[in-house]
Amino acid sequence: MTENIEPDPELVGIRHYLHAHPERSFKEYDTSIYLADQLKAHGIEILDNPLETGVVGLIRGGGGPGPRVALRADIDGLPIVEDTGLPFASVNTGVMHGCGHDLHMTGLLGAAFRLAARRDRFAGSVKILFQPSEETGQGAFAMIGAGLLDDVDAIIGTHNNPNYAPGQVAVGADPMMAGCVRFQVTLHAEGTHAGYPHKGTGPIEAMASMVLELQTIVSRNISALHPLVLSVTEVHGGRVWNVVPAEAGFQGTVRYFHKEDSLLAERRFRAIVAHTAEAFGITADVEWDDFQDPVVSDASLARAVAADVPGYGELEPIRPSMAGEDFCEFADVTRTVFAFIGSNGAQGCADWHSPRFVGLDASIPTFVDFYEKAALRVLGELAAGR
Ligand SMILES: [Zn+2]
Ligand SMILES: [Zn+2]
Repeated sequence: MTENIEPDPELVGIRHYLHAHPERSFKEYDTSIYLADQLKAHGIEILDNPLETGVVGLIRGGGGPGPRVALRADIDGLPIVEDTGLPFASVNTGVMHGCGHDLHMTGLLGAAFRLAARRDRFAGSVKILFQPSEETGQGAFAMIGAGLLDDVDAIIGTHNNPNYAPGQVAVGADPMMAGCVRFQVTLHAEGTHAGYPHKGTGPIEAMASMVLELQTIVSRNISALHPLVLSVTEVHGGRVWNVVPAEAGFQGTVRYFHKEDSLLAERRFRAIVAHTAEAFGITADVEWDDFQDPVVSDASLARAVAADVPGYGELEPIRPSMAGEDFCEFADVTRTVFAFIGSNGAQGCADWHSPRFVGLDASIPTFVDFYEKAALRVLGELAAGR
């Protein structure tokens, strides 16, 4: 599918500008002005956006009324010092488009330009959503809270993926990005002289035991056919060598692809912590924050979108990512389709959030094609009542 790989010079210029000027989450002020200017320059209506950053555009089809589909791209950079050596590397020191959101913005602009130029081809409307603050996991929530999804019948999003080559697309009914839990455990004991442990209780042995036992959730409770990881990433307790402390604790994360697995993991987690604490004669508090659901597309819409991919790219199997995405929030309010678009594909290339992460310009045409074709396909599916 190499005929699509020569990117439009206007879009390459946009991409290089955006890459060189990344901004932090919820601080995407200049990015938002730039994106709105681009939409206006192509005759696209800008709608009111109650949020401080982000941009909302609307393209009304010339074919009369019909469903409304939203296309979403996230727009924030990361607090990373870029180390790619690219000629268009970040000029905002300490901030980098290290997740490739510059490619998402460029692809969505390209699709919006095309849809606006050929609006007579469709009925209904396409809402263009440039979402702030994906990296904090709060931007999608903010957009939903601001009512920006209220008039939308479905939403389509993408993430570039350096593990796929430019021209490759992965979209379908299988889970794509992991659900994410943050847990925090605090242990309360009596504390005592280290030479007289029998005169109190201590949290350290209980904590050590819990950290090991919790791995049996993965090895004994969850189906071996369902990926789930549990990582304890921080432990603390005690200050000095001769006192048994009264308090200790740990925190970490669970990543999963099936909601029922996270519910089972939570039940087992709480049981292991409570009963281990009891066995050691201490008490424990558990905070279980179900931070993000897995990203899973609406099955019938995703299959319809996938069927069009061979017309402009290579359809690849979904290789799920253990990273999270706040696109999952939209599934609570509307139908969703999410796709990975290949952005590098070289053996051993740096992945998202690395200072050496490089997304290639050659991926831009596939972003444009995907957003455009998926919007038209989903409008058609919705109009047909599917
Ligand atoms: Zn990211
Ligand atoms: Zn990202």
